[in-house]
Amino acid sequence: MKKTDQKIFVTQPVLPALDEFTDLLKDIWGRKWLTNNGKYHQDFEKALADYLGVPYISLFSNGTLALISALQVLNITGEVITTPYSFVATTHALWWNNIKPVFVDVEPEFCNLDSKKIEAAITPKTTAILPVHVYGNPCDTEAIQEIADRYGLKVIYDAAHAFGVKQNGQSILNFGDLSILSFHATKVFNTIEGGAIVCHDEKTKKRIDYLKNFGFAGETEVIAPGINAKMNEVQSAFGLLQLKTIDKNILARKEIADFYCKHLDNIDGIERIVVPENLHYNYGYFPVFIDEQKYGMTRDALYEKLKANNIFGRRYFYPLISQFPTYRGLESARPENLPVAEMITDSVICLPIYPDLTRDDLKRILDIILNK
Ligand SMILES: *Cc1c(COP(=O)(O)O)cnc(C)c1O
Repeated sequence: MKKTDQKIFVTQPVLPALDEFTDLLKDIWGRKWLTNNGKYHQDFEKALADYLGVPYISLFSNGTLALISALQVLNITGEVITTPYSFVATTHALWWNNIKPVFVDVEPEFCNLDSKKIEAAITPKTTAILPVHVYGNPCDTEAIQEIADRYGLKVIYDAAHAFGVKQNGQSILNFGDLSILSFHATKVFNTIEGGAIVCHDEKTKKRIDYLKNFGFAGETEVIAPGINAKMNEVQSAFGLLQLKTIDKNILARKEIADFYCKHLDNIDGIERIVVPENLHYNYGYFPVFIDEQKYGMTRDALYEKLKANNIFGRRYFYPLISQFPTYRGLESARPENLPVAEMITDSVICLPIYPDLTRDDLKRILDIILNK
């Protein structure tokens, strides 16, 4: 196979050293304790809270169940204000809780929920705001909290992209009432499948832990209709090892992002997000926005051209959640209500970025973007 025939995907998961993982598996085989808050679950939870700089974290089997459970933890009902520019699970989590999603437009700088447009969408039924730190860039958390406080609303951040992101040295996972993480294979930090809820106090942490285990608060006591969303020992051991290399991997991602910036910044019609100075960023995604007039090619034409050359960028996020059949009948899903999101979704393409992406791979990608 020629080198240029090799498929390059938008991401490739990082795996722990196999021999180290095998050692932990042997230990798990010896213990015969496979799930329900075992040794590795406890160790990983502690190590993770420490690494992320958060007081309390509860591990989950995946990010979607963490999000569905987070809404249960705070007894959210009625209507929730959210963004159409995200992975579909953000809105699905509301639907699974019988909550009506109310879409509000995003701002063009970071593609996050536009805090200036939230207030107009609040009704007597609104109980919470569910913003997403898209691509790991923080939302306008101060403005969102101010609105939430004024109207007595809860704030749950979908922080699936925000692993390890710090603003002025502080974890952005500490904003709002709860934040959820995803450790899916495609994310910056993975436990194959996995997720977590970050909270601020022990009482809430207890409630979360009960809810993810059927509501059990003791051997015979069930405090609420909980679910089964526990992370198992194999995932936890895997995650514990992943923490060893996360800093190195984020640095490798940064170097790739720097390469893209250096070579794409003076190309007409290719825009990107400028990461703020005060941010310790995770470089999970490298979205670019194609201006068809200036670049001389549509986003979809570039997407297809890359694909024809075995390079698989992804149009995150296209279509908008509000465009899917399940949601497009909602009043707030009308395109006129979401002009910025409608524009961004047709121009975005995420370029491949992952620690093992080589210079040769990058040159191959760049060559296609430059030679239209
Ligand atoms: C990945 C992702 C999720 C879902 O997480 P899973 O672990 O795959 O269930 C939710 N929201 C956003 C924004 C995501 O990117």
